[in-house]
Amino acid sequence: MKFIKYLFLGLFSVVLMNCGGNDKKKEKEGFTYEKKTDDTKEVEANPNDVVITGDDMMRFNKSEIKVKAGKKVKLTLRHIGKLDKQVMGHNWVLLKPGVDLMGFSAKAVTFKDNDYIPDGTEDVIAHTKLIGGGETAVVEFDAPAPGTYEFLCSFPGHAAMMRGTFVVEE
Ligand code: ZN
Repeated sequence: MKFIKYLFLGLFSVVLMNCGGNDKKKEKEGFTYEKKTDDTKEVEANPNDVVITGDDMMRFNKSEIKVKAGKKVKLTLRHIGKLDKQVMGHNWVLLKPGVDLMGFSAKAVTFKDNDYIPDGTEDVIAHTKLIGGGETAVVEFDAPAPGTYEFLCSFPGHAAMMRGTFVVEE
């Protein structure tokens, strides 16, 4: 029995070695492929086309977003979790300069019917709707004047973790 085991192990290593060889070939092919994707990167490299994700652990994947002034910003929020928006809803809210983030978040709690955006607020530059797991929301707006702004998720209790800076560069 032991002999058979070793025989299998032997065969297995031969298979592994063969795979290794294939990988090397793939690496060579991968080089040309990479060059091709570089071209597309140039097209996609619009800094004002921003994608940010939120998950079931109450986290954004970015704590800093940088865009260029004088252009439209297209911000896409993807909820990559599975939880319902009633339990783990996310939105992306960009605040005007000088607005207290935690203060805004505390105020927003009472506006559940308005996706946790205070009715008629003047504190917000732009925001997405509130979404749940698997959903996507997009908001387009003109980049505000150069400077540093703050963003958050205004779902109750999320702003402590789900927040970051939004930098507009000249
Ligand atoms: Zn959230």
